[in-house]
Amino acid sequence: MKYNFYAGPAILPREVIEEASQAVLNFSNMGLSILEISHRSKEFVSVMEEAYDLVQQLLNIGNDHTVLFLGGGASTQFSMVPLNLLHAGRKAAYVDTGTWSSKAIRDGRTYGDIDIIASSKDKNYAYIPKGYPIDSSYQYLHITSNNTIYGTQYKAFPETNVPLVCDMSSDIFSRPIDINKFDLIYAGAQKNMGPAGATLVIVRKSALTKSSDLLGATLDYNNHIKGKSMYNTPPVFPVFVSMLNLRWLKKNGGVEAIQAINTQKSNLLYGELDRNGLFYSHVAHEDRSDMNVSFHLHNPELTDAFLEMCKSAGILGVAGHRSVGGFRASIYNAMPLEGVRVLTEVMQAFEASHG
Ligand SMILES: *Cc1c(COP(=O)(O)O)cnc(C)c1O
Repeated sequence: MKYNFYAGPAILPREVIEEASQAVLNFSNMGLSILEISHRSKEFVSVMEEAYDLVQQLLNIGNDHTVLFLGGGASTQFSMVPLNLLHAGRKAAYVDTGTWSSKAIRDGRTYGDIDIIASSKDKNYAYIPKGYPIDSSYQYLHITSNNTIYGTQYKAFPETNVPLVCDMSSDIFSRPIDINKFDLIYAGAQKNMGPAGATLVIVRKSALTKSSDLLGATLDYNNHIKGKSMYNTPPVFPVFVSMLNLRWLKKNGGVEAIQAINTQKSNLLYGELDRNGLFYSHVAHEDRSDMNVSFHLHNPELTDAFLEMCKSAGILGVAGHRSVGGFRASIYNAMPLEGVRVLTEVMQAFEASHG
């Protein structure tokens, strides 16, 4: 048995992978592979429609917002967001909570005027800034709901009248959200939604008022909305597998039900970190991520021995990101409670042998 704790591309439910592999051989009884059919075939159009429906149902999205499946990864949204939402003469506010928000800021600054109104850089991003003033003149406030690398997560979103834009790449579909707070949400698929290659965008239609004269066609959300995510060829297979995974989520009770399990998993793992004398978490208690658990050994010389013990228990992908060091266990929706239990048992055995 293997337990996949990689941060992304990340774990998918086994049954989703099996269904996807069937469709690679024979999709929808067409006698053709999903890899070789037209995105405009009625069979694939119905996949796209079902994917839209599932996103709308799972996140409780009404008519004010529209759903898109695009290519380019979450990183392309670092440019598309300011290109489409930030008007000349206006400013946007960004909160810097780590690598991904820093990249969003850097790209955003090539298109417009951006203020960093809060940052947790002073403590190597080990917390989520709170209580800072947000001037109501900003066109939008950009935040990153879950910081995949540092293991921090917003438990409550900032209270503000400024429209929120949120990179939810690593915690979308892990918990209920109030969609009305957001003008735009984006997420690369490969953390909690599907395989790499598709990017989910959810945008409030009324926010798209900027003249698009200066935008290339594929950078303009309006063209993708008109084309129902088929303005150009969409990432056919990643959209299909994402749809299967969202079906799996719905069948298992949706985001409320998965949140309950996600909380159980993270409580189990943080509980062990707090109990075990060899390990610690550097992340502020109230900001601990339920998706990416970043932790360290008090004695870093034991790092290789711990990774070796993990490996022999079938635990993969727990080495920390190079910018933080230590370890990171990504416990996305598809990770069963059992996998987290096995990891905590290995931590206990490691304590018994090295404590
Ligand atoms: C992984 C990740 C990204 C980058 O996603 P790509 O699809 O590789 O561009 C951006 N933001 C967050 C929060 C991520 O976890």
